[in-house]
Amino acid sequence: MADHKDPVAVIGLGRFGTALALELVATGTEVLAVDHRADVVQKLSGRLDQVVVADSTDPDALAEIGIADVPRVVVAIGSSLEASILTTALLSELGVPTIWAKATTRQQATILERVGAHHVVFPERDMGERIAHLVSGRVLDWVELDPGWVVAKARPPREIVGVPLGETGLRRRHRVTVVSVRPENQPSFTHADRDTVLSYGSVVVVAGRPADVERFLDLP
Ligand code: ADP
Repeated sequence: MADHKDPVAVIGLGRFGTALALELVATGTEVLAVDHRADVVQKLSGRLDQVVVADSTDPDALAEIGIADVPRVVVAIGSSLEASILTTALLSELGVPTIWAKATTRQQATILERVGAHHVVFPERDMGERIAHLVSGRVLDWVELDPGWVVAKARPPREIVGVPLGETGLRRRHRVTVVSVRPENQPSFTHADRDTVLSYGSVVVVAGRPADVERFLDLP
């Protein structure tokens, strides 16, 4: 099992791979970033400590950069299906303990899983879904933590304003939980509990199944 402090290799430094690598570094994770294009590597060399040119479909190149010793590898190649499949298969053969791969379609995800990806992510689809909720109105942020479970940041519907949360029957009537609240004119969130009373200007974090959270946040 990989530890959250273990280094991560990111293969493919397009928009997704670059953002991922930079965010990992910003949160204190050691990153080995890889791309077969020298100009891409060159551009990132000032922002990442370990960024190397290698073709990940070449077993010798992978061995040379010591990929087998990296416990977590993300295959962030989106443009070439062939390269992402071959890379994933080679990493699997090398026994990399945790392989993440990026897919754009369900079929691609199935193939990547067959050749050894342990986790497949769909950044374009996930971001599209997330932004749909933002565009649609009251929701300020929407994150699907797991298939079938979301947390959303939103303005509270009228029916839960001015009443202690414990008296709203939220869980029973709407199957959602208000987990945190940022009171009006306050800079940060705090835990919500039975006695919390919301005002219109407050912001809440709501957890539940997507359809339930959506229905709840559509209330006036
Ligand atoms: P995004 O959609 O996130 O911008 P792209 O698919 O456009 O992603 O970018 C993928 C990156 O992966 C590119 O920078 C490309 O040079 C790199 N890449 C493609 N094939 C290989 C390979 N065989 N080895 C290493 N890097 C690769």
